Amino acid sequence: MTDRYNPAEIEKRWQQQWEADGLYHTSDDARDKFYFLTMLPYTSGDIHAGHWYPMTPSDAAARYRRMRGLNVFYPIGFDAFGLPAENAAIKQGVHPHRWTYDNIDRMRGQLKSMGAMFDWTSEVRTCDPEYYRWNQWFFLKFLENGLAYQALAPANWCPSCQTVLANEQVLPDGTCERCRTPVTHRDLEQWFFRITKYADELLDFSAIDWPERIVTMQRNWIGRSEGVEIAFGLDAPGVEQKELRVFTTRPDTIFGVTFMVLAPEHPLVPLLTTPDRRAEVEAYVEQARRQTEIERLSTEREKTGVFTGAVCKNLLNGEAVQIWVADYALLWYGTGAVMGVPAHDQRDFEFARQYGIPIRVVIAPPDWDGAPLEEAYVDPGTMVNSGRFDSLPNEDGKQAIAGYVESSGWGKRTVSYRIRDWLISRQRYWGTPIPIVHCQKCGAVPVPEDRLPVLLPEDAEFKPTGESPLARHERFVNVDCPRCGGPARRETDTMDTFMDSNWYFIRYLSPNYDAGPVDPARAAAWLPVDQYTGGAEHAVMHLLYARFFWKVARDLGMVRGDEPFLRLFNQGQILGPDGQRMSKSRGNVVAPDEYVARYGADTFRCYLMFIGPWDEGGPFGTEGINGVWRWLNRVWGLALNEPRFGQASSDAVREMRRLTHQTIRKATEDMERFRFNTLLAALMEMTNGLLHARDAGPVDLDAWSEAVESLLLMLAPVAPHVAEELWARSGRTYSVHTQAWPSWDPELAREDEITLVVQVNGKVRDRIQAPAGIDEARAKELALASPRVRQFTDGKELAKVVYVPGKLVNLVVR
Ligand SMILES: [Zn+2]
Ligand SMILES: [Zn+2]
Repeated sequence: MTDRYNPAEIEKRWQQQWEADGLYHTSDDARDKFYFLTMLPYTSGDIHAGHWYPMTPSDAAARYRRMRGLNVFYPIGFDAFGLPAENAAIKQGVHPHRWTYDNIDRMRGQLKSMGAMFDWTSEVRTCDPEYYRWNQWFFLKFLENGLAYQALAPANWCPSCQTVLANEQVLPDGTCERCRTPVTHRDLEQWFFRITKYADELLDFSAIDWPERIVTMQRNWIGRSEGVEIAFGLDAPGVEQKELRVFTTRPDTIFGVTFMVLAPEHPLVPLLTTPDRRAEVEAYVEQARRQTEIERLSTEREKTGVFTGAVCKNLLNGEAVQIWVADYALLWYGTGAVMGVPAHDQRDFEFARQYGIPIRVVIAPPDWDGAPLEEAYVDPGTMVNSGRFDSLPNEDGKQAIAGYVESSGWGKRTVSYRIRDWLISRQRYWGTPIPIVHCQKCGAVPVPEDRLPVLLPEDAEFKPTGESPLARHERFVNVDCPRCGGPARRETDTMDTFMDSNWYFIRYLSPNYDAGPVDPARAAAWLPVDQYTGGAEHAVMHLLYARFFWKVARDLGMVRGDEPFLRLFNQGQILGPDGQRMSKSRGNVVAPDEYVARYGADTFRCYLMFIGPWDEGGPFGTEGINGVWRWLNRVWGLALNEPRFGQASSDAVREMRRLTHQTIRKATEDMERFRFNTLLAALMEMTNGLLHARDAGPVDLDAWSEAVESLLLMLAPVAPHVAEELWARSGRTYSVHTQAWPSWDPELAREDEITLVVQVNGKVRDRIQAPAGIDEARAKELALASPRVRQFTDGKELAKVVYVPGKLVNLVVR
């Protein structure tokens, strides 16, 4: 009995069967639990190959763990709020609400066509009021615990998206990560989350097994540096402040300070500027505000600045130091004031040259003859021109000066971080409303918990104008103050969409629970996530915020343990057939639907896994798909066409069983390490080996059954539909997906060994043990590695190798 492999028919049928049977619904039972999480898709449009690429291998890995006897939870949902959805909706002229929910419906159908073992009963949509209600609840908890605050701050402003961006959303080149427009700055009243409070804890990665490069990126992003905060004396007419504090990691260079720089936005600038300098300083500040950060920090650009006319005092040597304004100082890093040490900092060096400011060497290079420097000297040396600290090695000088500054009461050793508090306010429509009411009498009043959610009005005008769209929605804005009952206005900003992805994996556990963000029993049973897979592009946003958020949730008593994601695997990127990043504008986006219609989901899944190592990715090619399609057809024929059973030779039986057990060993190791490409190669080799054995003569019934059964079991995670169909057609019990992963017998997997004679120029020099069936390349390698052989080959040129399979290697050397 046989017919053609017809994926269109069998895939739909099995998907319906699995759904009807609740095969992938996870409930609590006695098995060990394993929470396997793949990053949820964003609802910006159709599901494309860029979604299948992270999800289908993770599905295979999750299925494998289930076959290993674990109770696996593998949920899915939709990340639905935020700028990309809103921008797309504006472009299409549809309301973001309708646009997003339509997308979700279509994407759900597309995701189902993958045949993944998603537990759809736990689906979460972050734009549902039942979800964002808990975003608001968390916000209130943050507020109660001093972890949320409002401040007037210069914010990154994208003129095109018309909203502020978190620092994490500004690319290294200073552009908006959404639209690549150069980012500017604006002063706005904003809400912040105090992530800096957790900076030190976030630097501790000891409880997680994550790729080193992600850990490094987070470490750099947090940017901890130890140094000294030092006061410089201020005595300006009419200025109350009597000192100016700077942070430096180089206290050893303090005697080399010849100028001080303030950021143009620094509040002291207008106060300190002397009347004769005012016009010039104001003009400079004005033009600096129009610059982007990228321009201001460019190392290529000429350094510019203006003198304020004011001075401060270096307390260590009593010298007056000119105070300048320069745009390379940024208010939002450090204290917004930078001490200028031109001899030992290249940027300061260029600035000093430009404006004729003295350059004083205080760390002498070895063998320095006192000549002026050609560039800043930043390496270790001996302290000079530094009073009582002269002749100390500068590393010792750092400690000595820090101690002296502390004992004099001029400053203290301190730690500085690059990371800033997380700015969560967005002046856009499509997000979670911030649950705050502004009252003239009471100030910012939190909306009481029992009045949540603050619903996002669906009838709002949503196009961006720079002001929050909600501000023009009268019924939304005008409310009574929850505290005094007087007239008040709602906060009209919405939350950064990264708020949503902070905890979606917690909500999956009880998506309909309404007494809190998560059912405590489910949280205790399933969290933290055992394995997370997703893209490396989330290194310093989602993956850092989620760790922060988790630690807060832990401190609120909601979750246990210090980390949300114990293990992380980053897949690479699937490229277009042209080897370029897939994008609509390039027109190289691969739509899986077409391939699924033509070859079936199983072929498409296996092809994506076969392209290359999963953590590297690679270009999409139709050639390869055909290869995988032909392979699955061979498996089909193999499973359904019985060979001629009979008395096979003991060697043939041994060989077939060896092939089976070696493949199981290889597939198991590859599954553990997410090496799907080599796993598929092994399954393909096994298929070919079995077909070859079938053609070679009578086949042993037991060895054949073992081989086919093992092959189908190993096929189940990667090609779930065809494996299920062949499992059923060959009379085995439903479902292949509830079977145990096969195990291998090391004795059966062992290679037979042969003795290989090694000759050098025709004379026998060694006999080595080698696996039977060894190929020429490997035989040559083994022969050349033998110490006895090397006595005769070292220093000579290998002219030729003669290999007699299974018997002899003759090395001809000159
Ligand atoms: Zn933008
Ligand atoms: Zn009030």
